[in-house]
Amino acid sequence: MPDFSPTQYAVPAFVLLVLIEMIWARYKRPDAYEPRDTLVSLAFGTGSTVAGALFGGFAFWLFIKTYEFRLFDFGEEWWKVWWAWPLAFLLDDLKYYWVHRAGHRIRWMWAAHVNHHSSQHYNLSTALRQTWTGNFTFGLLFAIPLVLLGFHPFMLGIVAGFNLIYQFWIHTEAINKMPRWFEAVMNTPSHHRVHHATNPLYLDRNYAGVFIIWDKMFGTFQPEVENEKIRYGIVKQLGSFNLLWAVFHEWIGMLTDIWSAPWKHKLSYLLREPGWTHDGSRETSDMIRASWQERTQSKAPEPLPTDDGQTA
Ligand SMILES: [Zn+2]
Ligand SMILES: [Zn+2]
Repeated sequence: MPDFSPTQYAVPAFVLLVLIEMIWARYKRPDAYEPRDTLVSLAFGTGSTVAGALFGGFAFWLFIKTYEFRLFDFGEEWWKVWWAWPLAFLLDDLKYYWVHRAGHRIRWMWAAHVNHHSSQHYNLSTALRQTWTGNFTFGLLFAIPLVLLGFHPFMLGIVAGFNLIYQFWIHTEAINKMPRWFEAVMNTPSHHRVHHATNPLYLDRNYAGVFIIWDKMFGTFQPEVENEKIRYGIVKQLGSFNLLWAVFHEWIGMLTDIWSAPWKHKLSYLLREPGWTHDGSRETSDMIRASWQERTQSKAPEPLPTDDGQTA
């Protein structure tokens, strides 16, 4: 049985490409890199690998147990069924879309995923900002249907590794747009810049991993618009390069809210969207978008009256 984790083999290429992009940035976009921010990103990448090794065992155990109840069977030598690989890759990417979407819409999952968004810079090192606490959410349950379909947990681990490797190169401002056909189907730097933006137009859009088609299918696609300068990061920026604060700030915020909330609202602080409060004292991304739309619409020119005096 093959045991192969593709991401670790890609690390030298990641480092090399970060260095090349740093040189590019020095001449073309000096503000793309901030050394302290890059160090935090690198520490995130390293720590995430360690956390995965420490806490990933439970997930793997759960998947192996679930695999015993699979509905379909690719056979004893499942890794030799060639068409199972692209199928697993595609379905895993669909799963990624929904895990990622939940990661933005459920605060318990956001507490872990916010790590990836906490940089105010957007460069290849941002891709290495991976969570330490993903195993403490229920995100792993999203893979259960694939295991029940008969995909071996090893196979799913490998395709998920390639998925992650793909997502590395899209964290850059060095590429504006890819060819039109590519932008139509694949996740690209342009689409993913939108995902990392805090502009109201861009909030909670483009959850895709590899294929952008899922966002188009499920109504969360937003193309990058010219003349809309992107502000990267999170709605309430960290304002610090403290690594441990960066890792745990949202967990601390969430637990504090649960602690101080009235009993009937406690669960909502765990399961509702980030920014939700029972007294309306903060804003969710939907609220931010709605008030932005109101503002921009009120600035728009009045519609011209038609012949019968009605407005068009
Ligand atoms: Zn995200
Ligand atoms: Zn990203």
